[in-house]
Amino acid sequence: MKLDIVTIFPKMVEGPLAEGIIGRAMARGVLDLRVHDLREFTTDRHRVVDDVPFGGGPGMVLKPEPLFRAVESIRIGRGEPSAVILTSPDGRRFSNEDARRLSRLPHVVILCGRYEGVDERVRLHLASEEISIGDYVVSGGELPALVIVDAVARFVPGVVGDEESVSRDSFARGLLDYAQYTRPAEFRGWRVPPVLLSGHHAEIARWRRRDALARTLALRPDLVADPSGLEPEDREVLQELLEDREKGAS
Ligand code: SAH
Repeated sequence: MKLDIVTIFPKMVEGPLAEGIIGRAMARGVLDLRVHDLREFTTDRHRVVDDVPFGGGPGMVLKPEPLFRAVESIRIGRGEPSAVILTSPDGRRFSNEDARRLSRLPHVVILCGRYEGVDERVRLHLASEEISIGDYVVSGGELPALVIVDAVARFVPGVVGDEESVSRDSFARGLLDYAQYTRPAEFRGWRVPPVLLSGHHAEIARWRRRDALARTLALRPDLVADPSGLEPEDREVLQELLEDREKGAS
């Protein structure tokens, strides 16, 4: 998969992307990721990327020309992108489903805003969609771009070594993940649930399914408010949990 990030702070994204799962996927060529310095697409001597807002007010706004030129250069050098994403707090809230959808595209460009944001014409005529990582404001699109790239990359085949772990992760099947334990079996008097030490695979699978459902019900009931999307076995266990809860309450 091809990914291009356009930013005025390339180092802010290059470092994190060189590490861990993403770094390895890039080294193996599974991800073809480029970071572009927006200043390279200015035409003036001072390489200016921002200007004051028309109409007055505080702060600076990213100018449209360098962003358009950056995407045009990517188009020529790397081919027509399937999506041009503008990171923006007023975009649609990024979800696991977006990550999965974007991972199926061959080529995604991400534009990082800064200051007060970007000239509106970028949103209207350059971006194909706007994505927000949540209802809060960070000072630039670099961290949001990293969040998006990381979440998307996990769904690209060959990026995460064990594909099963991605399909089991929180949200993948509409549930949170089950609790994880590692050695030691007893730590400061707190024991690991005995079933996990039993070596009994069917029992362990049953415990995990129940744990994932119980956690989801307790921590994110909104995810199971409509159980119709769940696997039939999950629905059964959910029903049991709800019945247990009612018994407990009465
Ligand atoms: N004035 C803008 C905020 C600009 S923050 C507003 O109130 O909407 C500067 C840049 O940081 C934005 O252009 C965007 O690229 C990025 N950014 C900030 N918060 C973000 C969020 N929650 N999701 C995605 N991008 C965000």
